[in-house]
Amino acid sequence: MQHTLKKSVSISDIGLHSGVVVNVNIHPANADHGVVFKRVDITDKQNTVPAQCDRVVDARLCTVIGNDAGVTVGTIEHLMAAFRGCGIDNALVEIDAGEVPILDGSSKQFVEAFEDVGIQVQSLPRRAIRVLKEVTYTEGDRSVTLSPSHVPVYGGQINYDNPTIGSQRYEMKLVNGNFKHDLADCRTFCLLKDVEMMQANGLALGGSLDNAIVVDDTGVINEDGLRCHDEFIRHKLLDAIGDLSLCGGLFFGRYEGIRAGHAMNNKALRTLLADDTAWDVVDLYLEIDEADNNLYQTKVAMADSDATL
Ligand SMILES: [Zn+2]
Repeated sequence: MQHTLKKSVSISDIGLHSGVVVNVNIHPANADHGVVFKRVDITDKQNTVPAQCDRVVDARLCTVIGNDAGVTVGTIEHLMAAFRGCGIDNALVEIDAGEVPILDGSSKQFVEAFEDVGIQVQSLPRRAIRVLKEVTYTEGDRSVTLSPSHVPVYGGQINYDNPTIGSQRYEMKLVNGNFKHDLADCRTFCLLKDVEMMQANGLALGGSLDNAIVVDDTGVINEDGLRCHDEFIRHKLLDAIGDLSLCGGLFFGRYEGIRAGHAMNNKALRTLLADDTAWDVVDLYLEIDEADNNLYQTKVAMADSDATL
């Protein structure tokens, strides 16, 4: 079934690129509402933007969505990943600036906020976008492949010319609360030289060791080091979950990203959706075991088969 929050949650922190404080109020929403952002600082034109992949207007540094009036919201991916990872389909995100707060650079605080208020089961089945045919989007030696799978699977690989990051691979099934345990607290990362270049160009003005892993030629600069040895690739999969959650339902397939980023994730998803024979829509019925208050003990049954996950 579809889910929303039981109560509203409020979160405030600086935006990564602007460096200014942003206030976000996330409200429960009706079934079939989806996730919609509302720029409450803008009142003289259409100020809502649905979180859908055809609304992505820029994906070079982060995922930015916009509406026909030119109103945008950026850095949505870690919040979107938290929604998907916690099984939240419907929410109204009121925000008073053009960028979602960066927090610690992961989805951790969003997930904690959602857990604090709890999740409400709704009356309609969840819509899933099921992949029927493999689609690959390639740029040089980088690629994103979306293919059929019995459960949502995210796999990926990075190869950095940096001894600390190096080559990493990770793969996980997005079921049974794995997001919370395996990915949610994995932070975004960057090379020190890239931070210096971005800040010289007026970007990442809010960037600090509090909201990103920063790596130089000798290692991780953050005093406390990494949260896990492969935090880099795990964060890339967190990003991918957020990016693919813009498909219009639960992405039901396998994602494989080789040195991929937000822009390629979006292009691969658009390539898939542009081919009517490559996907279909199925209804999912999902139960949350509330007896032990564990939001992540889930049982999912597909409407048109006995398959469970
Ligand atoms: Zn990210």
